[in-house]
Amino acid sequence: MFRKRLSRLREHFSQEGIDALLISSNSNRVYLSGFQGTSGCLIITSDEQILVTDFRYLNQAKSEATDYQIVLFKTSLLEKINDLLKERQIQTLGFESQHLTYEQYHKYKSQLEVDFIPVSSLVEKLRKHKDPAEIEKVKNAVSVADKTFEHILGFIKPGVTERELAAEMEYFMRKEGAGGPSFDTIIASGFRGALPHGTASDRAICPGDLIVMDYGAILDGYCSDITRTVVVGTATSEQRKIYDIVLEAQTEALGFVEPGRKCCEIDALARDIIAGHGFGENFGHGLGHGVGLEVHEKPSVNPRNQDILEPGMVITVEPGIYIDGWGGVRIEDMVLVTDKGCEILTQSPKELIEVS
Ligand code: ZN
Ligand code: ZN
Repeated sequence: MFRKRLSRLREHFSQEGIDALLISSNSNRVYLSGFQGTSGCLIITSDEQILVTDFRYLNQAKSEATDYQIVLFKTSLLEKINDLLKERQIQTLGFESQHLTYEQYHKYKSQLEVDFIPVSSLVEKLRKHKDPAEIEKVKNAVSVADKTFEHILGFIKPGVTERELAAEMEYFMRKEGAGGPSFDTIIASGFRGALPHGTASDRAICPGDLIVMDYGAILDGYCSDITRTVVVGTATSEQRKIYDIVLEAQTEALGFVEPGRKCCEIDALARDIIAGHGFGENFGHGLGHGVGLEVHEKPSVNPRNQDILEPGMVITVEPGIYIDGWGGVRIEDMVLVTDKGCEILTQSPKELIEVS
């Protein structure tokens, strides 16, 4: 599996004008080696792959990065990298330009005796297409998110705070095998629902509130991301009207996901439906994004992205309507692009649930 990913990566070396690539980002390191430790870097040459890490991670590196030579550094990571490059007569070394800080860049450039070449999003582009092993992991992460939705419905009642709901969800996800939440759990109730990214606060749930819950679990390194909106008590006609518009936009957009579509076309379909009902100004974010080792990956599904959907991509579809002082509604599913169309991964119900 890692050998296949490495060979796809190496195909780009000549085009990028590099003899070797230095991988410093956590998720790209996991993707290319399986090593889940939080310190170390990869050096990928045309015929070798080396993991450089420190003493704390030796055993973990040996058991996880089985396709790699493991090299330990004692005092200076940069000196060790420089020695390894010199031994192999590497002259041009690519680095991940979006992951190195300005300070690191100057340090690396001055200490490594190579041409140091910026390479942008090379591994991220490979990661757009999930292989079967990754799809399995994503599905497991989605399944935990689905179970969490069912679980939390029994805890929602007037008086309980957003933070208490978030805590219960995160505790439940861990008990179901999650390494943690994919991101800070968003619980935005009542007027706070107008904040698209309103992380859980001390606000107590009130009768009549809409509650936007956006959360996910990390399983085996892979993320899920789901949003459901429920109402406490009986929905008003206004709440139901807004909910139905978002659901219509979401359902139609999901039905439009298939290989060959441009990301911006999927976005436009949902956006036009919401605008057609007069709420165009109330949907101010992109329709979705890729999900995998990170919760936000390529491809972005927004009005500008011309990327074409291909089998193996996993994206979210998450339209919303946000009204200041009133609240919000968002519905988000994860969907896998297949050879012929798509498979909706999220299974949680989408009719408006009135929690009593
Ligand atoms: Zn989300
Ligand atoms: Zn999302």
